[in-house]
Amino acid sequence: MALSGIQIFKMLPNTNCQECGVPTCMAFAMKLAAGQAELDSCPYVSDEAREKLEEASAPPIRPVVIGTGDSALKVGGETVIFRHEKTFVNKPGIGLLITDTMDEAEVDKKLKTFKELEYDRVGMKLKADIVALKDTSGDPEKFLKLVEKVKNMGLTTLVLMSDKPEVLAKAVKAAGDIRPLIYAATDENVEELGKLALENNCPIAVRGKDLENAAELTSKLADMKLKDIVIDTGAREIRQAFQDHIAVRRAALVDKFRPLGFPTIVFPCDMTDDPIQETVFASTFIPKYGGIIILSEVDGHNLFPLSVQRMNIYTDPQRPMATTEGIYEINNPDENSPVLITSNFALTYFIVSGEVESSRVPSWLLIKDTEGLSVLTAWAAGKFVADAIAPFVKKCGIEDKIKHRKIVIPGAAATISGDLDEELTDWEVQIGPREGAHITPFLKNWKAA
Ligand code: SF4
Repeated sequence: MALSGIQIFKMLPNTNCQECGVPTCMAFAMKLAAGQAELDSCPYVSDEAREKLEEASAPPIRPVVIGTGDSALKVGGETVIFRHEKTFVNKPGIGLLITDTMDEAEVDKKLKTFKELEYDRVGMKLKADIVALKDTSGDPEKFLKLVEKVKNMGLTTLVLMSDKPEVLAKAVKAAGDIRPLIYAATDENVEELGKLALENNCPIAVRGKDLENAAELTSKLADMKLKDIVIDTGAREIRQAFQDHIAVRRAALVDKFRPLGFPTIVFPCDMTDDPIQETVFASTFIPKYGGIIILSEVDGHNLFPLSVQRMNIYTDPQRPMATTEGIYEINNPDENSPVLITSNFALTYFIVSGEVESSRVPSWLLIKDTEGLSVLTAWAAGKFVADAIAPFVKKCGIEDKIKHRKIVIPGAAATISGDLDEELTDWEVQIGPREGAHITPFLKNWKAA
């Protein structure tokens, strides 16, 4: 049964040493009770307390890490059913399926695209996360060759898929210490694969015939002391898979049913031969609750929309995305280049900087910290007003970089121009366009003198 923050606090050392990253043991206890911290963050919990706390403080859906190092993929760990209740925590992994019966050239092409394709969006890198290698030939040598090839390309976040435990055992050995996800334990092999996962400290997936069977399999693995488990409900039809995912999330969060308290793996690649439909199916599982989403192809047509959707769903709705305050140089500006200022809301920054860049006019862009609020919201909150902007303009160093003293404020904030004139007495305050799309003509007509 879940413990309250006070009950947890009584079992902590109460030294407030802060090694867990929060200021006090009480604050840590509250976070633990809310499922926002992990017990392992406190190195000083006694064994006795740990035993009691582990069960009570475990997130309803266990976080599972596949792989090691910077490229490791962490899935699960979710604590809410709807993103607006708090936030979703670990974004689902987007995966590419490669089989050992594909011809060499096709494999090379797919892997090259997987490795190289990435997008930069509001300061974030969007790319695919995991490669699922599937033994479809039944030839262990062929499968091992594929595992080694992929690993040698530096791709080390892997799912190893085979129906044969002996092939998986060899593949896990060939993979070395990269902690691949072993796929998949079934009624026929659960003990054997459970042992393999235990011996090699690897996460393991179960493939159920249905949800009930999946829960039986995870219970058997949990009895073997395995914790890092991923669920494939077995559904290969969109309607059933969608229903299963909702049932898994509700069972784990609402009913506190531990056997389904694990992240999932889902295979849109097996649900249709139509690439567009496959992308649409995959997009279903981003908000509705896929852990790892395996695609037959990763390229521009699916990676961009899916990863943008994922980014939008998995950003914290309570925390605006922000850019760092400072001076940004665009198109190699010099002492006669225009100076524009805007707020540090990430979307504002990327729209304005993108428009300035595409205008090809060398410019200085000043980004004022408004705690991630957009221009109008920041103005209303008193964070993008004259007495906040003026000290920043004076101290940021822009005066040393330019000869003129003209500053362009966003058209949406025209109302501050009078106050800003009074604060920045040496400067001429100019009102810029209201819309990003009008920045280019504005800059092309701008003159320093
Ligand atoms: S690390 Fe442990 S003892 Fe230290 S403040 Fe955090 S909870 Fe308290």
